Amino acid sequence: MTKRLTEDKKITDFFACDVFTDAVMREYMASEDYDALREIIESGGELEMALADKVANALKDWAMSKGATHYTHWFQPLTGSTAEKHDSFISIDRSGNTILEFTGKSLSKGEADASSFPSGGIRATFEARGYTVWDVSSPAFIKKSIDGSGVLCIPTAFCAYTGELLDKKTPLLRSMAALDVEGRRLLKLLGIKAKKVVANVGGEQEYFLVDKSMYLQRDDLRFTGRTLFGAPAPKGQEKNDQYYANIKERVLCFMADLNEELWMLGITAKTQHNEVAPSQHELAPIYNSVNIAVDQNQLIMEMMKKVANHHNLTCLLHEKPFAGVNGSGKHNNWSLCTNDGINLLEPGSTPESNRVFLLFLLAVIGGVDEYQDLLRMSTASAGNDLRIGANEAPPAIISIYVGENLQSMFENLENGAQGIKRIKEYLKMGVPNSPRLKKDECDRNRTSPFAFTGNKFEFRMVGSSQSLATANIVLNTITAEMLHRISDEIEYAMSHDEDKDFDHIISTVVLKYIKQHRRIIFNGNNYTDEWKEEAKKRGLCNLTNSVDAFNAMLRPEVVELLERNNILSEKEVISRHEIYLDDYSKTLHIEAMTALSIAKTQILSAVMRYEGELARGFAKLSAADGLGAVQLKLMRQIDALLCELNERIDALECATAKTSEDMDVCTKAMLHRDLIVPALTTLRETVDKLQLICDKGIWPYPNYADLLFYE
Ligand code: ADP
Ligand code: MG
Repeated sequence: MTKRLTEDKKITDFFACDVFTDAVMREYMASEDYDALREIIESGGELEMALADKVANALKDWAMSKGATHYTHWFQPLTGSTAEKHDSFISIDRSGNTILEFTGKSLSKGEADASSFPSGGIRATFEARGYTVWDVSSPAFIKKSIDGSGVLCIPTAFCAYTGELLDKKTPLLRSMAALDVEGRRLLKLLGIKAKKVVANVGGEQEYFLVDKSMYLQRDDLRFTGRTLFGAPAPKGQEKNDQYYANIKERVLCFMADLNEELWMLGITAKTQHNEVAPSQHELAPIYNSVNIAVDQNQLIMEMMKKVANHHNLTCLLHEKPFAGVNGSGKHNNWSLCTNDGINLLEPGSTPESNRVFLLFLLAVIGGVDEYQDLLRMSTASAGNDLRIGANEAPPAIISIYVGENLQSMFENLENGAQGIKRIKEYLKMGVPNSPRLKKDECDRNRTSPFAFTGNKFEFRMVGSSQSLATANIVLNTITAEMLHRISDEIEYAMSHDEDKDFDHIISTVVLKYIKQHRRIIFNGNNYTDEWKEEAKKRGLCNLTNSVDAFNAMLRPEVVELLERNNILSEKEVISRHEIYLDDYSKTLHIEAMTALSIAKTQILSAVMRYEGELARGFAKLSAADGLGAVQLKLMRQIDALLCELNERIDALECATAKTSEDMDVCTKAMLHRDLIVPALTTLRETVDKLQLICDKGIWPYPNYADLLFYE
């Protein structure tokens, strides 16, 4: 790929060069039109067609100057990835001349065949119409191909003809609106005027890179994104020698290219490092407003795949591509901020009397406690089931880490004591001349699914291939809900309490929320069995698999929450529930089909050939001089495993035969969970045992050592 960074070119010389930024907007539009659009972006409101025409024209001129020939409404259907249909700027005018045109109508609204996207029964094929509607709050950008051709991408929302939402962006935008309204309302009660309250998100993205030629030889990676078979390599991650280790040159070249691509798209790729597993890496951008962060994370995943390809590598975004080493997640760092840049989760020097901090913190804690199941649901998928609860990722139980300082503050507040116990304010490094380093408000706890990390929360359950949208829809909504309740309580007390002492009213609310939601706070090791026991005693949810987690969406309180906050209607919730379950079953069905195909047409035949070879050798040797004891021993072992393999192939086939297309989605998903998952696991055990005793040369595809330890 063309290198942008040269001796005389800095990052800032080309940062966001493919984005319709504020500066570009100003350059390409008349100042009054620019002002009008800016107002809509910042404060909402209707986009008149006359203005839309002008914006479209500016977009077209800019995009064409960058070599773009097409535009697309870039949207996020419920598949979890993105979708696009390209239209060129070519048009025919009334006199039959070919012209280049992009109208306000085409910018604002596009049409897509909604029946070909998951709709959970909302759309039937005979009533296929679906609309894509421009999201003015996320900037348009150009996606370039290696030959320089480009497509103007307009971030959009997607709904059915009848208005039901079919995407992840719209509920996210709605959850942001709910958070904004409720955030400003509480701030106003506390005497603070803010024009806007937004959630900021920084998403850390983990991924694996493997050599493309190796990848292409494995049907399991090609069809399912993960290895369905594979004995461990002699070396794994046991020496902890990979995390933050030197990055190999081939990967560094990939990262350099990736960074440039992302910078051109205005994505602030900031941190990169090796992760815990061999060939596993991470990239983190600087945080952004949640809507933009979600869009950008989609682009990061897309670019990772594209750029890897240019380096003869393949990027694996699956949650658990390899058994026996860590899987990949996506840490969702989430905070609340006003338009003036005030972080509402910043404890300050006296958190115990910081009303804004306490109330916003408790709103999040309360929301997470009351809607644990919904938050857990936001991370459910067949892929993430292989990771959650596996001592490398948080357990399936949601709890919150707040650290010792805040824990002691809560205790003191409850006991009526003043102050907050501070544990060592400064770091003692013992290095001569080193500066005095102030300690963060709390330490890190890597085992916690939801950790307070100083002035933001880090949600660590999201899977590496998942959209960040669902998790943030839930975080925004549950927080908005709790802020609403807190404001209601304060307002009620203010109009009913006789002495109306504001301090007293606030501390009553604070105490009530601490008491009510204390059970969700856990600072210990989340990986232990003792915690599972303790969590059970506390009445916390432990939804160990996706099917149970998806069912949480139908809990009446959850449906009410989503309806009350205008996020999704009951019909939309039911349709999403159906889509997610259906996707779960389909993923497992594809895994079963792939495993059967590999086991039957590659493994079984290879092992039989090898056994035949041994048998021929043994026949000759024993005829010669009664030799061949080793061959015989190996043959016996292989033959026993071959029989087992045959049985387990049959078992998986029987399991798949018990599911059918026309079953209801819930039964089908449960059958996949209860029959297919265990059958896949046991089949794998036999194949992996065989791999460890057969000649490497006869094995039909590259093994873990080849995949994870390439140069
Ligand atoms: P770690 O790996 O230690 O969790 P990183 O530095 O890799 O931390 O990533 C932290 C992420 O959190 C980055 O994306 C960063 O931009 C983001 N972040 C930092 N401050 C905030 C904040 N106030 N709100 C949201 N995200 C934040
Ligand atoms: Mg992190």
